Amino acid sequence: MPLSPSGDLPTHDLLIDGQRVPPGSGEYSTDINPATEAPIARVAQGNAADVDRAVQAARAALKVWNGMRAAERGRILYRFADLLEAHAEELVQLESQDAGKPLAGVRRQDVPAAIDTVRYYAGWCDKINGQVIPARNDALTYTVREPVGVVAAIVPWNFPLMIGMWKIAPALACGCTLVVKPAEITPLSALRVAELALEAGVPPGVFNIVTGKGSVVGNALVAHPGVDKVTFTGSPGVGRGIMQGAAANFKRVTLELGGKSANVIFADADLDAATRAAASGIFFNAGQVCSAGSRILAQRQVYDEVVERMAERARAIRVGDPAEPGTTMGPVVSAAQMKTVLDYVEIGKKEGASAVTGGARIGERGFYVAPTVFANVEHEMRISQEEIFGPVASVIPFDDEADAVRIANGTAFSLAAGVWSADIARVHKVAGELRAGTVWINTYGYTDVRLPWGGSGDSGLGREHGDAAIENFTEPKAIWLSLR
Ligand code: NAD
Repeated sequence: MPLSPSGDLPTHDLLIDGQRVPPGSGEYSTDINPATEAPIARVAQGNAADVDRAVQAARAALKVWNGMRAAERGRILYRFADLLEAHAEELVQLESQDAGKPLAGVRRQDVPAAIDTVRYYAGWCDKINGQVIPARNDALTYTVREPVGVVAAIVPWNFPLMIGMWKIAPALACGCTLVVKPAEITPLSALRVAELALEAGVPPGVFNIVTGKGSVVGNALVAHPGVDKVTFTGSPGVGRGIMQGAAANFKRVTLELGGKSANVIFADADLDAATRAAASGIFFNAGQVCSAGSRILAQRQVYDEVVERMAERARAIRVGDPAEPGTTMGPVVSAAQMKTVLDYVEIGKKEGASAVTGGARIGERGFYVAPTVFANVEHEMRISQEEIFGPVASVIPFDDEADAVRIANGTAFSLAAGVWSADIARVHKVAGELRAGTVWINTYGYTDVRLPWGGSGDSGLGREHGDAAIENFTEPKAIWLSLR
């Protein structure tokens, strides 16, 4: 990593057209480790002129990347995956320090999932086929799928590497070029990954990174006429603005937004397994997961037992330094996020819910919030309706199937849901009735790049992963050849 002129902190410039370049503004922000609040890097603050340079580079590179044989693009992506694997531990450390994630979790999930995503889409490169569709006897009619063009990928801070790769890998496989904007507070893994892509043979200009503020860099990307598609993961408020901005030149848009997922536990469920999964469903990554099972719906006859078991599991979580082996929950990502979470805890208390455990900051250094379980939560309360994005579980009672479905479906979100019961007919019936892009039955929280991912309503628009992503990053073209 290049050192700053003063020699104290690593300094990260933008990555445009294969080169590290300083930002036009000359400004850098200080990136901090949320576990210690210590500065760890200086990061370039891009502006609209930097975005323009990056988009021009990406447009120019389209011919090179898309002109390459599809199988050759695939070989480069396989090399990219191999390089990510060779540098896995470096990426684990970067991601952990930047986002405050416990090392074990990043080793087990974030980095392997990112590598798996690259390999999965490397395999797609030479399998993006058109069709011969016989329309008339006097013409040969067929389709081809062409890359959508220049893609702006706007990435959040909760899984910077993994969610970034959910966008980068399929876009590259389809022959698109990219300008990636990582979240302002977690840019380090994306910058390293882009260097490894260059090393793997991705040509300069194909994969550019402009770091900086969403309101500056993100806005400029959304407004830029040279961008053909925006793929965004983040909050519903920003997503709405992106959709409006993209309308100016009808950019394609995919939005993966928030959630308030319900984990529905019937009285006949295996309560030990259900509460174990429900606890990791809400406390994994300190609750900063779009599909966090933040609403635990417990059937009335087992409600008290579920509350008690959830509280026990919350108290058993080892909150602490992400670098310590044995830590199961790290800090939340920033002081601002910690304030949001603690404000919601106060809102919950004022609304009449009772915090049976947690509900406060831990310590004075690092942004640690105690795993919190609220009981006596009513469906209409704000803590039951609004995304908190922190380690706060609300346990809500229900009477029967119909009541469970009504409560589970009763928010603006629809990303994911869980259902727990020993009754096989019931779980299928309820899974069908839940408004969610993903339903987990007698399990919770798995994702896999082979399966579609996304939601509707305030959870977003479109799906990522699998063949859905191939459709997102390509446009079909119909071709007619006269046989007369
Ligand atoms: P955010 O919306 O604040 O920021 C996301 C990204 O958008 C960041 O890179 C940010 O800099 C950028 N941005 C901010 N303002 C912008 C603007 N005006 N124009 C363009 N870009 C802008 O979200 P966040 O706080 O980083 O992430 C948390 C949110 O993301 C939560 O709501 C969470 O549920 C959601 N999320 C969803 C999924 C999913 O797959 N559905 C996954 C992870 C996170």
